[in-house]
Amino acid sequence: MYGITSFPDTTAIPDRLTVLSAQGIPKGAEIPAAVATLVDNAFEIYTGLVEPKGVRSPVSVKEFDAIYRGEGHNAPRTPLEGMLPDARRLALFAVTIGEPVCAEIRRLFNDGDPALGYALDTIASAGAESLAAETARDFQEGLLQLDSTAPDMRVLPHSPGYCGWHVSSQGKLFEVLRPDRIGISLNASFLMQPLKSVSGVLLAAEPEVHEFDIDFTFCTDCADQGCRERIQSVSSNTRGGQ
Ligand code: SF4
Repeated sequence: MYGITSFPDTTAIPDRLTVLSAQGIPKGAEIPAAVATLVDNAFEIYTGLVEPKGVRSPVSVKEFDAIYRGEGHNAPRTPLEGMLPDARRLALFAVTIGEPVCAEIRRLFNDGDPALGYALDTIASAGAESLAAETARDFQEGLLQLDSTAPDMRVLPHSPGYCGWHVSSQGKLFEVLRPDRIGISLNASFLMQPLKSVSGVLLAAEPEVHEFDIDFTFCTDCADQGCRERIQSVSSNTRGGQ
């Protein structure tokens, strides 16, 4: 449940429709042949190079509070801060699809094939998100086995750099979790290398704890409002039964 995880490569391979959607092709729309070929070629490169890994470590609410506050640059009010008092369990996590895919994306852009580079970049981003979702799902399953009295407990990941949690908190998170054990490092701007990595905290709580209104100042500039889909996934998971 904790420690270093080597995921099967298939866990890091995103759904083709998700990738096409990120390429600007809505679900159900006709896929131009050139785009289909590009995405197929990018998937072939990706599956040959992906090296998915993850690391996870439990953390108490008190320990996490110092990590969350980081350098003191968070928004005055954030969704995550509001959930912490009701969190049942927390775990720090970091996942990556590995450096070879990221190096190939850079090479394609530098060598004059930006279309293929962009398709591969899209797959890599979706792949890293798939790994984060998988580590959340695995954490949830493990907790439900440990605590059968909390069948409604659900887990969602939260990452520095999003929704008012300042990216500079990565510094303290990395000090505690040490994702260098799986080859992830931080640069001076708190960006992760490999670039296609996701880090943060997994928060386990009852479904209603994950819900919130988007009335934060930083929500005004948020185009995709991805939190709505995440919250929906937690509540529909509950409605779907165990
Ligand atoms: S609307 Fe955007 S910025 Fe606001 S909480 Fe949701 S995902 Fe975060």
